[in-house]
Amino acid sequence: MNDILPDNTVAWLGLESKLIDLMARYGYRQVRLPVVEKTELFKRAVGEVTDIVEKEMYTFEDRNGDSLSLRPEGTAGCVRAAIENGLLHNQMQRLWYSGPMFRHERPQKGRYRQFHQLGVEAYGMAGPDIDAELIMLSARLWQELGIKDIELQINSLGSSTARANYRAQLLHYWNDNKDKLDEDGLRRMESNPMRILDSKNPGMQEIIANAPQLIDALDDESREHFEQFKAMLDSVGITYRVNPRLVRGLDYYNATVFEWVTDQLGAQGTVCAGGRYDSLVEQLGGRDTTAVGFAIGLERLLDLVQLSANDEQVAQIDACLVMVGDAAQAKGLVVAESIRYALPTLRLQSLCGGSSFKSQMKRADKSGACVALILGDDEVNTATVGVKLLREDKAQQQVAQSSLASLLTEILENHANKRG
Ligand code: ATP
Ligand code: MG
Repeated sequence: MNDILPDNTVAWLGLESKLIDLMARYGYRQVRLPVVEKTELFKRAVGEVTDIVEKEMYTFEDRNGDSLSLRPEGTAGCVRAAIENGLLHNQMQRLWYSGPMFRHERPQKGRYRQFHQLGVEAYGMAGPDIDAELIMLSARLWQELGIKDIELQINSLGSSTARANYRAQLLHYWNDNKDKLDEDGLRRMESNPMRILDSKNPGMQEIIANAPQLIDALDDESREHFEQFKAMLDSVGITYRVNPRLVRGLDYYNATVFEWVTDQLGAQGTVCAGGRYDSLVEQLGGRDTTAVGFAIGLERLLDLVQLSANDEQVAQIDACLVMVGDAAQAKGLVVAESIRYALPTLRLQSLCGGSSFKSQMKRADKSGACVALILGDDEVNTATVGVKLLREDKAQQQVAQSSLASLLTEILENHANKRG
């Protein structure tokens, strides 16, 4: 679990504000959901025989003896909330949320025990158009963030009948190749044979590659849905690769599934993953409602953004107020407040603490600000302030405090233009 420190929160805030804006432009509305849910919810939604429920959840008993878990993902809670609050009665909903998720995994680059997801979910729309909209929305995000090397992989898991037939076929195949399965594989053979396809064990990749493919066993309806989905992606020029091994690690998916994958992040290359989950609402006690959604791992996305941008660190403040002498120190914060009142957008830091002129100027220099405002006894007596540009070789000017706002506006505009 990581601390996100001041140097990094700027990037987080920047990303979050882009996400908020994007969601609004596609007509998705935010929900804010609890971080803790009943353990039972995740068992039923995510599935008993999944990595998440078997070994990754932070589960504990509360004071009433109820078993609760920190949420390992957001879809289950979103469906619960939508059912409980009547959001799904003959309604279409486009929802999003973001926040921390918790999984007890082995920490490594791109894989943490507390990480953050943006989740996007759409309810009540059965056709492939909404699947395609979600892809277009995510593609738009990559474009606006300047992310290029990212591949869309898609697959269809078909209807539950198609999957049941396929499951039987696959079980047969694993049985014939039992000697090549690892311990996890053997255990999953009966309970969840499709999940073996998702195994990351290098030693099993060959039998996985030769296994029968679900896409060949699809029912007509799912096949048609998938064809239309692909045609819609084609029509807007979004390229993709059909990956018949893509099954996703959670039980609730059916029909369309997809992942956006990059090779720029090392082993943890999936940035965004999702698909349809048409039976989950009913399974969790709601009325039969079709659903589709995805989640983006925000740590991985930020890593990618930083790889493609590699721009200089943006300064977090514009100006520092240097206060020298007793009168200035007594009056400094009052002057600072009047500057803020006159110029509300200014990011101004007062150098409190009463150190020497020299050391305050050093702090101002290090702060990244482009201007130092200098207040000494003379300035207090004459209601002026010294203005020193920190990034330019110009002499300090004295200005009346009353005209400081317009001068600062000009300085900041010049500075912004220079940075392009
Ligand atoms: P992976 O195969 O990488 O374990 P997953 O299939 O478990 O991913 P999902 O449950 O689909 O992942 O979550 C969606 C996204 O959330 C992932 O694609 C990834 O970007 C991110 N994510 C998942 N687990 C973690 C984690 N432990 N740390 C950081 N990001 C994660
Ligand atoms: Mg995982």
